[in-house]
Amino acid sequence: MSTLATRPITHSLHYSQEVLNRVSFLRKDPQFLEEALTHAETVFIPFHDYMPFVDERNGVMARLHRKEIGDVIEPKNSARNLVFLGLSLSAKSNFVYSARYRGTPTFALNVSNTGGLEASQLLEVLQSYRKLESFKDLNRLTLEESSIVSQARMYLQWLDTHKFCSICGSKTIAADAGTRLTCSNGDCVSNHRVSNVCFPRTDAVVISAITNRDNSKVLLCKSGAPRNKERKLYSCVSGFLEPSETLEVAVAREIWEETGLNTDKVDILMSQPWPFPNNLMIGCVAVADDAQIPDLTHDCELDEVRWVPCSVLESILSQEESSSGFIQDEATGLNLPNNKSVAYMLMSYIVDKSKAKTNLQPN
Ligand SMILES: [Zn+2]
Repeated sequence: MSTLATRPITHSLHYSQEVLNRVSFLRKDPQFLEEALTHAETVFIPFHDYMPFVDERNGVMARLHRKEIGDVIEPKNSARNLVFLGLSLSAKSNFVYSARYRGTPTFALNVSNTGGLEASQLLEVLQSYRKLESFKDLNRLTLEESSIVSQARMYLQWLDTHKFCSICGSKTIAADAGTRLTCSNGDCVSNHRVSNVCFPRTDAVVISAITNRDNSKVLLCKSGAPRNKERKLYSCVSGFLEPSETLEVAVAREIWEETGLNTDKVDILMSQPWPFPNNLMIGCVAVADDAQIPDLTHDCELDEVRWVPCSVLESILSQEESSSGFIQDEATGLNLPNNKSVAYMLMSYIVDKSKAKTNLQPN
């Protein structure tokens, strides 16, 4: 197994940009929250069913100001329909806190969970926008907008699905502007330990492209899941990280369980937040000896695996995605993930590496 590769902090994947300064240490500062909630420039990004609204003319997400949302939120940090996301790094703003923290305060507002307050008023304001409905809709957002959506979805879904304490069953209370939960029962053991709070969870998922020892081929894997049967999508191997498992071991385990192949080496290349509902995809490249015979009968997750030469893969990856949201190659019958996915980036990485190697070889 190799050590961590050095990679850039940002890359051009959806949901992955840091466009807000989260100032996480200010979420528990009541003075900051009071000023952030009441400032005229503060924006509230509305979500319904965890989906944003967009202006059809330019594809930009709806951003409301305090005067437009009226009393839909309570100006306190325990509101369950509200999450402080951060200070906008891009917008010019007159908001300054403590003479050093600048940027437009940005909140996510769950309008399908407004606590019986004036939700109808909000929906009227939002009539001129279109609510996004699908995964494909989200894919059309800019990288920056998709990243804000990812952060908001993960928090709002977590607040809606953790209403009760997992120890005593009492109701939980939102704190720190929707980024932390505590138990409402003062006698609960959870209130008398160091870890007396519940934070949002992020589930780690390893996703790995597989190449052979001389880096000339990629093993494409077709999932046997019913949804995948229609799409005939060929992609990478992926699976959840298990408790007390390193990322490298998780990759090797998943590859063996799904393909029967033993792995020589694993490189960790990049990660991508994946808000469906709360995952972090950790992109890796694994090397396996292509003389091994694949065995798909361990966990039976895959229908088929196929070694494809990098030269063929390069020509497929260079094609535009079709209306289905995938790259469909008629010559080979292979459907591949589009260029917004980790899988695409991993396959491209192997193809580029293979080309570089070929170029170095003497004629
Ligand atoms: Zn409790």
